[in-house]
This record gives sequence, C-alpha cells and structure tokens, in this order.
Amino acid sequence: MTARPYIIKLKNTPSNGINLLPIGPVDHDILRHLSESITEHCNMPCSIGQETEIPEHTLNQTRKQYDSKLILKHLMMHGPPEPLRLIGVTGVDLFVPILKYVFGIAQIKGRCAVISLKRLSPRFYDLPPDDALFKTRVEKTALHELGHTFGLTHCRDLHCVMTSSTKISDTDGKHSAFCITCFELLKWYREKLMD
Ligand SMILES: [Zn+2]
Ligand SMILES: [Zn+2]
Repeated sequence: MTARPYIIKLKNTPSNGINLLPIGPVDHDILRHLSESITEHCNMPCSIGQETEIPEHTLNQTRKQYDSKLILKHLMMHGPPEPLRLIGVTGVDLFVPILKYVFGIAQIKGRCAVISLKRLSPRFYDLPPDDALFKTRVEKTALHELGHTFGLTHCRDLHCVMTSSTKISDTDGKHSAFCITCFELLKWYREKLMD
C-alpha cells in the first residue's frame, strides 16, 4: 500500500481550524506569534478569538491558583462551537489537584486545551525578560497540548515537543516541533478526523 500524500483538505475558515481564545488579558503579540507558529507546525489555519473573562468559580481560594480542569470544562461548554480545536490561553497559574501546577492541559482526542503563560515567563524565575525564550516556551506548550487533542500521547524522544514537561527545564530541553513519529501520527489522526 502506498502512503497517502499529505493533502490539506482544510479551508481557511474557523470551523476547520484552530482558535486561540484569550482567557483574561493576554499580550496580542504572543497570540499572533502562537497563531503563526501553529499554522506552520500543524499546517492548519489558526485564528485568534475574542478575550473572555476568567470564570470566577475556577479560582481555588486556598491555592490561589486556577483549576485547569474547570477552565477546560468551561471552554467545552461555553467556548465558540465552530473551531475544530480551541486553545484557551491565560496568564493565570493553573493546577490539577494532584500537582503543584501545570503548564497546560488538554482533552485527549478532544476539542479543547488550555495553557498558562505564568510559569513560562523568565520573570517568574526572577530572571531578566527574554522575549524570544518566552515565545518559544509558549509555542512548545501549545503544540504539546494541541498534540494531545489530536490523540498523541507523551513521547520518549526528549527533543520531541510531545515529551512531558513537569518543570521548565523539560520545556527548554525540547524542540518546538514534533519528532517524525509524532508528526506522522498527527497527520494520520487528522486525516482520520477529516474523512
Ligand atoms: Zn502532556
Ligand atoms: Zn515524538
């Protein structure tokens, strides 16, 4: 059997693409960079949505952090219904109950993901601002969560964007790209989705 050529069946409409949804204020420059990067790496149109408020009930008063799963649920229920994939982008710190924090979270083979910029900024670690580093971290985090939404699991290749990030050095150690295996899988999952 010959391999199917990588045909992009998507048209440049929100319903076929990815939508970045700022949850709370997010620098537009970052969103623009992210949108271009996703389009390049995933070969899919990526638009930027209207800023929405952070749902109040997702704040955990004790932890002073936001519950990532509740935000994800909110996106699933109240986010725009058209886009193929919806990525919430927020400046607030996210957690899941069993972990101190998460950089992002996604529905595996689902439609929604959310990423936090909070711990991606060098400032968070008391380091001088570094715009290039910050943007690279944001793009790695978004590509990773997006990969999960298409069905990719964690990759053992430490340079692959699908390797897990439990600390920022994990993120810095990987590339802003899928390894060949993950990239082929991503294409396959997407084609299946488009059939
Ligand atoms: Zn992951
Ligand atoms: Zn991989």
